[in-house]
Formats: sequence, structure tokens, C-alpha cells
Amino acid sequence: MFHKILIANRGEIALRIIKAAKQLGIETLIVYSSADKDSLPVQLADASVCIGPPASSKSYLNQESIIQTAIHHGCEAIHPGYGFLSENAEFVEKCENNGLSFIGPKASVIRCMGDKQSARKLMKENGVPIVPGSEDIVKTADEAKEIASNIGFPVLLKASAGGGGRGMRIANSAEEIDEAFNAATSEALSAFGNGDLYIEKYILNPRHIEVQILADEFGNIVHLGERDCSIQRRNQKMIEEAPANCLTGDIRSYLLDAAIKAARAANYTNAGTVEFVVDPNENHYFIEMNTRVQVEHPVTEMITGIDIVRSQILIASGEKLDFAQNDILVRGYSIECRVNAEDVDRGFAPSPGRIEYLRYPSGEGVRIESAIQAGTTISPWYDSMICKVIVHAPSRDEAIRKMIFALQEFKIDGVKTNIEFLLRILNNNDYCEGKVDTSFVSGLL
Ligand code: ADP
Repeated sequence: MFHKILIANRGEIALRIIKAAKQLGIETLIVYSSADKDSLPVQLADASVCIGPPASSKSYLNQESIIQTAIHHGCEAIHPGYGFLSENAEFVEKCENNGLSFIGPKASVIRCMGDKQSARKLMKENGVPIVPGSEDIVKTADEAKEIASNIGFPVLLKASAGGGGRGMRIANSAEEIDEAFNAATSEALSAFGNGDLYIEKYILNPRHIEVQILADEFGNIVHLGERDCSIQRRNQKMIEEAPANCLTGDIRSYLLDAAIKAARAANYTNAGTVEFVVDPNENHYFIEMNTRVQVEHPVTEMITGIDIVRSQILIASGEKLDFAQNDILVRGYSIECRVNAEDVDRGFAPSPGRIEYLRYPSGEGVRIESAIQAGTTISPWYDSMICKVIVHAPSRDEAIRKMIFALQEFKIDGVKTNIEFLLRILNNNDYCEGKVDTSFVSGLL
């Protein structure tokens, strides 16, 4: 077991990792940018080191500085959280070469799965259904037109290195390809430094269903059930739920099996998520595998009672999973809302600023994941999430009502938030009846 780990992240996920480490009796060292010097994780970690100015490229993405800090301070492992360096194979290799454990999969696995096109190939070879699309990178708009006319419109042009819903454009006809191709390429280049695109058939009105996986270094792989993350805005998740009540027995077990198959095919270790889209006829397709802890991992923790971050640390330190598939029981229903500092009326633009007053909801089955308190300034440098509110109740109906009350109990002054918008969703009849797909939010705007 590790004695000391370095946390290469900030905000709520940094605090979440500190808590899991503390529970295991592990010392924590956090690295931070000067913008975060007064943050809660910096106050609560056993030790902290400033590694640079606010710009992520000079701090949270500064690989050399993070690795040297870990070595200098005697850390045995690095937890990357999500975002930043969490899916950066080059960084993982550097950790491996410097004798540091990376709390996540091996560099080779991240490299294969991080490239969406190579992940698609691997899944196809292993009998996991993928969305019909291009076999390779599509180099020109003309090539895109030819492939699109073979698979049929609408199509989605997607960045091979994509993430966070960026580098993705729909084309409804050949005429729309040129513009979509150029826009997706330039967005992918600026966001990921890699403009490679591939094409998928655009599945109409799908649900986003994903399966949480844990795999140890002894070949044991389990799933922790599925989540429904169909409530999205511009392909980014807003509300996540577990389990996915909409799924019938057959398709649920099919997706769970497919996810295990995918993890086995990839030689996967640690925590990961296999993502699918499921159309209204229950046709289902693999879209990608995320090789890190997800923002929405708490809903799975609530229904299974398994601490995913604790499992990540134990697996990376070479321990066997301390439960088998049959030990994992799903209890009740869980919903998570992402509360952001944003101005809904201005296209959900970030609304940074100082939090003057803050009252969080509380009570049985209400969980807050946050590093924000009254007096904290939400910085324009990073994402605008204030907190995640997670509820757990015996049924979906009760979980919805519990979430509505939790959001009403929430009080915040100083920044604009999306709380009213979240309440609009939770009070919507179609949402309450589970009649949702990934286009639901755009239908409300
Ligand atoms: P990212 O890595 O940027 O999150 P994903 O491949 O996970 O990208 O896709 C994000 C979201 O985009 C999905 O949850 C889904 O709503 C939508 N999406 C992705 N691929 C398709 C597709 N082929 N058809 C329809 N919607 C899709």
C-alpha cells in the first residue's frame, strides 16, 4: 500500500481524492496553481506545493514540475483526477519511467483508448457493436462526403482526440460537410492540438448509457452497473442517474457484458467507463471508453456502496479487488446535478466571481461534492462548476423529489447559477416519466 500520494488536480475532485486517501491512511500532497492557493484542497491536504501560475499549461499540465515534485517529496503515486493529465499517455509513461505509480490504466491502454478511432477498431474486432462510420481518419471534406453518402445522412464529424463534447459537428447533407469539416478540424486543433477527424452515423434521439468498470492487475474485472447521462447540453452532461431505469432486462445485461468484453479486450486495469448510445429501438453502439474517474462516479457509489476512488488507489497499489461481481448489489436510485456558475440567459456563459453567501442542502441521502465555500472566488481560469449535488432514494420518483427539495434548499449569492434551469428539468413531465434522450435539453431552450 502507498504511504504518500500526489494529487495532480484541483477543486472538488482533488478534495474527493484527499478523502479517499485519508480513509486509507495515506498521506497526501497536492500541487496547485497560484490561483488556487487559498482553496480547500490546498488547506486540507497534508502538504501542498505551488507549481506555477493560473494558466493550466504552466501548472496543472506542467508534467515535469509535477513529476519532480512527486520525486522530491517522496510520493509513490500520482492521482490525476479527471481532465488535465488524466488521459495523457505521455505523462503516464513519464511516471512509469520515473518509478511512480499512476493511479489509472497503463500508458499503452490510455493511448489505444484515447484515440477514439483505434478504440473503435479494437471494439469491432472483439464483437462490441460500434456506430457505423469511417474505418480510418478522414483527411479531406471530399472524402468525408463520399463516406457520408455511403453510411447515410445525418452524420457526425468527430475529433479522434476529442473530449468534453468538443470537435464534433453534425452534417445533415453533403452541402453541410465543408463547413462542418472545417469547424470540427479547427476546434479539435485548438482544443487537442490534433485535428484528425472520423465520421459516425448520427444516431437520432439516443440515450447516453455508460457502464462503470473496475479491473485489477490480476485479471479480475467487474462492472458496477450503468448510468443514464442523457440530460446533456451541447454533448456535455448536466444530470446523471443510476441505474438506467429505461433499460429492459435484455439490453441492460447485454451492455454490461459488452463493457466487460471491451475492458478485457483492452487489457484494462483500474477504473474506466464504457460509453454507448442506445436508439429508440434499443439498437446500441459503443462510442468511447473513458480511462479515468468520471465526474458522475458518485451516483454509482450511492447505489452500490462501493468507493470508486478508494478502489482506484488500491488497484494501483497492486491489491486485488476485495469483492466479486456477485457481491455487488444495486440499491435504490441516485441522481446527480452539476451546479455551475453560469448565466443561462447568455447561452450558459461562465459567470465567475466571489461567492458572498452559500448554504448547501443536507440530510439523509444528500451528498455534496465541492471545494467551494462562502468567500471563495470562482476563477475564470478553470471550469465553472460550483458543486455536484447527489441524492439517493428508494425509487426514481423519490430521488427526483429529493433533488428538487435539495436544489430549493440551496442558496447562493454572488454568482449566477443554473439551479433554476435544473429545477425546470426536474419538474418537467416528460423527464419525470423518463421520456428523455440526448436532445431533451435543447428542446427546452
Ligand atoms: P466526448 O469525448 O467529447 O464526450 P463522446 O464520443 O463521448 O464525446 O460523445 C459525447 C456525446 O455526443 C454523447 O453522449 C452523445 O450525446 C453524443 N454523440 C456522440 N456520438 C454520437 C453519435 N454517433 N450519434 C448521436 N449522438 C452522439
